[in-house]
Amino acid sequence: MKFQPHASHFINGEYVEDTNGREIEVIYPATGELIAKLHSATPAIIDLALKAAQDAQQAWAALSGTERGRILRRASDIIRKRNYDLSVLETHDTGKPLQETTVADATSGADALEYFGGLAGSLTGEHIALGGGDFVYTIRQALGVCVGIGAWNYPTQIACWKAAPALACGNTMIFKPSETTPLSALKVAEILCEAGAPKGIYNVVQGYGEVGAALVTDQRVAKVSLTGSVPTGRKVYAAAAAEMKHVTMELGGKSPIIVFDDADLEDAISGAILGNFYSSGQVCSNGTRVFVQKGIKEAFLKRLTERLGQAKIGDPMDMDVSFGPMVSERQLNIVKGYIAIGIEEGARLVSGGQQLKREGFYLEPTVFADVTDKMTIAREEIFGPVMSVLDFDTEDEVLARANDTEFGLAAGVFTADLTRAHRVVAGFEAGSCFINTYNLAPVEAPFGGSKASGVGRENSKLAINHYSEMKSVYVSMNSVEAPY
Ligand code: NAD
Repeated sequence: MKFQPHASHFINGEYVEDTNGREIEVIYPATGELIAKLHSATPAIIDLALKAAQDAQQAWAALSGTERGRILRRASDIIRKRNYDLSVLETHDTGKPLQETTVADATSGADALEYFGGLAGSLTGEHIALGGGDFVYTIRQALGVCVGIGAWNYPTQIACWKAAPALACGNTMIFKPSETTPLSALKVAEILCEAGAPKGIYNVVQGYGEVGAALVTDQRVAKVSLTGSVPTGRKVYAAAAAEMKHVTMELGGKSPIIVFDDADLEDAISGAILGNFYSSGQVCSNGTRVFVQKGIKEAFLKRLTERLGQAKIGDPMDMDVSFGPMVSERQLNIVKGYIAIGIEEGARLVSGGQQLKREGFYLEPTVFADVTDKMTIAREEIFGPVMSVLDFDTEDEVLARANDTEFGLAAGVFTADLTRAHRVVAGFEAGSCFINTYNLAPVEAPFGGSKASGVGRENSKLAINHYSEMKSVYVSMNSVEAPY
């Protein structure tokens, strides 16, 4: 098996195996080939990881931020140097084209380690002057042991987006990758060690949902950061709440892109393509409800179809290929089910809709037009290459319809009228908004959702607040007055 790791788990600075755990088969989505076989963590493995993370935490937090940051930045450099190999692994784990993984996965993880490594030395509390010479100072403290749980669409990125701020603040982490894509987080753990990370500060345990659930409910855990679907988020949030643990929830979406008739049509189509078909549509912040103003609807659809004809679908290892398979047969079937529902409910299939007649889990980029707000494909997250195009007349109408969803992850607007762009963005009920572009997520900007799409933010300085807490210390410079 081409990508078999040394062992399933990485705990306390080394690979660890326990073959008593349920098997996890890793399948290359482009061919269906088995590329690795791992084992889900047993209670003994989970306990080993928790113990390692707990034992390592205080010494790690006692280092200066600059020392911690140096290790993260070194890890970032190693990732960049090995970008090609890491991207090949990511492509085999996920099926995403190498054209994407070489620019959006390990590199994005490296960005997070570099950014939070740079911030680590300047994390501070503050001094608050009070009357009579008294003052308060605040101490920024690590939370303790943090658990990260990942989805399968961006395995390296998710592993690093959680590790980097957690470690910068002096926490330790146990990361459980998705059972569908378990390989690359092990490489992140290896690289952190090589960069000088003390044993036990970043541990990886494999497993299905029950392993995640066992980690979330353990009393040694102070914080849980989940990237996953809304139903899983509800369960994990509830379990964490029972113990009053801190949470970050990065969940699903059904985000709108609004295209006004004065928009640059090519730009709007580029945004809609990126926001629906990158990573074969398996991106949480995708703008899968594309509202196009009536006057330009047919021109939009005609040009969109022409441009989709230029997509190069095929072997994800070929650098010219721009569209790869879905991550798994299971996900392929879920998405095919939604396409059938779309047709049944009366949406007009404009492009695609078919599974490719070749090995692997390939589905054509699919566009539905004449979609109405009540249709299932306009309401539920599909998590595949399916774009729904809806028509609209006025700004007020489209904003109300764009917000009429339980989700609130992202939203975009394309228009030449800047005043309108800012007005529409102010009205969006979403965490990450875009004007005349879509789906960019630089590490400097907060990323996360409103409403059912999540709690908390990843990336940017804000993430620091989600991985640390403030202790406030009142200092009296005067005698203490008591009533008796
Ligand atoms: P999922 O919810 O099925 O699983 C996510 C992770 O949670 C997996 O590691 C899984 O093993 C684990 N898990 C499942 N049940 C659990 C439980 N009871 N307790 C603890 N852990 C449990 O999601 P998925 O299918 O892997 O990923 C797709 C979803 O992730 C989509 O909804 C997508 O929108 C979302 N996503 C969100 C973001 C974001 O940043 N907002 C990014 C990527 C993906």
